[in-house]
Amino acid sequence: MSEDTFDVIVIGAGENGLVLGNYLGKAGQKVLVCERRLESGGGLSTEECTILGCWHNTGSYYHDTVQVTPIYQDLDLVNANAIYIHPPVQSSLLKRDGESLTLFSDLEQTEAEIARWSKEDAQAWRRHSEAFHSALSSHYQPYLLNPAQNGMGHEDFDSRSDSTPLEAVQAEFKHPMTQALLLSHFMVPRGILSNYEGAGRFLQLVVGTSASNRIVEGGSHELAQALWTEQLRNNGWVWDSTPIKRILIEEGKAVGVETSTGRELHAKVVVSTVDLQTTFQTLVGPEHIPQELAPQLQAFQLEEFSLFVIHAVMDEVPTVNAKDDHVSRALRWTLGFESAEDVQEHIAQIQAGKVPNRLGAVVSCPSLHDPSQALPGKHTFLLWQLVPSRLKSGDWSDVADSYAQQILDWVSEYLPNMKGKNVLRQVVMSPQDLVTKWQYPQGTVFGGKSAGAQLGADRPIPELANYRTPIKNLYLGGASMHPGAGIEGASGYVAAKVIADDLGISIPASV
Ligand SMILES: Cc1cc2nc3c(=O)[nH]c(=O)nc-3n(C[C@H](O)[C@H](O)[C@H](O)COP(=O)(O)OP(=O)(O)OC[C@H]3O[C@@H](n4cnc5c(N)ncnc54)[C@H](O)[C@@H]3O)c2cc1C
Repeated sequence: MSEDTFDVIVIGAGENGLVLGNYLGKAGQKVLVCERRLESGGGLSTEECTILGCWHNTGSYYHDTVQVTPIYQDLDLVNANAIYIHPPVQSSLLKRDGESLTLFSDLEQTEAEIARWSKEDAQAWRRHSEAFHSALSSHYQPYLLNPAQNGMGHEDFDSRSDSTPLEAVQAEFKHPMTQALLLSHFMVPRGILSNYEGAGRFLQLVVGTSASNRIVEGGSHELAQALWTEQLRNNGWVWDSTPIKRILIEEGKAVGVETSTGRELHAKVVVSTVDLQTTFQTLVGPEHIPQELAPQLQAFQLEEFSLFVIHAVMDEVPTVNAKDDHVSRALRWTLGFESAEDVQEHIAQIQAGKVPNRLGAVVSCPSLHDPSQALPGKHTFLLWQLVPSRLKSGDWSDVADSYAQQILDWVSEYLPNMKGKNVLRQVVMSPQDLVTKWQYPQGTVFGGKSAGAQLGADRPIPELANYRTPIKNLYLGGASMHPGAGIEGASGYVAAKVIADDLGISIPASV
């Protein structure tokens, strides 16, 4: 094989690209993973964007499905230095009056906490959590780790396949705080809005994982680093700063890629893990898109929201205006949502394309749980608020700074020292910045709307749902595919299985 010829070329070294590269490399394929950015990782990104010596997770942070897929174990990532921290106080919904509802890593504690507000909800929480864990290996893993199907053969999941998260949550949980906390976990990190049709099916998954948030010691990028290290051990190369300009197609077959510098690289198989639009409109090119596919690709819907992000460094650890002490130690604070109605109002503003003045955010102090992420004695701060990816009128760059200040003033009602001299530096990222940084389409970050026909067997569109494309030897493997976005590497894993099947080889997959 010449130095420009590989068995498999993967476009994009995000989690999915690296996962699929690793599995196929383990199966003996010579793999090249090409990455546009300076560093591999995609959404696994940690950067010194405020003060040198303080690390910020500029992409993903809450890794709540690590235990749901076998990837971490299969690829032995702990030995490549991806070490997860699972804080005992997981997720607090904090009300303006200082009352709170907290989820703990320990189910007994969570049940007792929910029972303070509603005994019925506490029982329902235990029931759904246990049901999720007992169906994990028999139903959820086969569903998530194989090409999409419409049903799971699990009554609890299938019976909610026409419900919205709001309907599912309200049917099973009665207290406004339980409802609001769950809907906030649908939004972050699942990327699912409360009125997304059909997404109520994930109720048990959300209950079962919302107290499983893990963070990577040293920052999320350490997971990318571990996958990168393993890729080199597993018969592969990762070339950073190598943007792919186009996929080479000859006689309806993908035969390789061309880099932005004009270098041609050849392979038996090409896999794109970048979003659907970029893959087809830019990398494949309209001239190679089969006629019958074009209207369906056009009809594929992006989610209508994005993230408004604030990273800051604080001189002191955040103080929390909470009646219960444990809240100040929570990994995640949900602010501004005290009921399902609050969530609905917030979402209505987003879906109307307005800058939401109905604020509601998910906030964390990463250095509280991992001091290695900040200079000694300093603290890092992370805030995400959902916002429209594009504004109906005006531009994010015109409003981002003043909006960030409005949000921080509001946050200081919950975290009183989150203001003044205690905030040493802050960096704001609006959806427009996400477009520049990640080149995600229109600043959306979840690979396409997880609702209606774009769920299950029809994700992203029926013709592409089995990870193959009408262009022979071209496969798909990113967050636009089932089971969607999130740090679980699942679509990379499924793509590796499908490609292995077509190549007549077997990958060392444990599910
Ligand atoms: C700000 C933010 C916060 C998030 N928070 C969470 C969270 O807390 N928990 C969670 O589970 N999920 C979270 N997500 C979502 C999660 O990060 C993504 O679902 C996940 O990264 C998808 O992995 P991927 O490999 O499919 O794509 P990506 O991680 O996007 O990787 C794709 C890679 O392809 C590269 N690329 C693009 N075009 C080209 C090209 N032409 N040539 C070569 N390379 C190219 C990109 O640079 C990128 O590195 C978050 C995302 C963002 C942006």
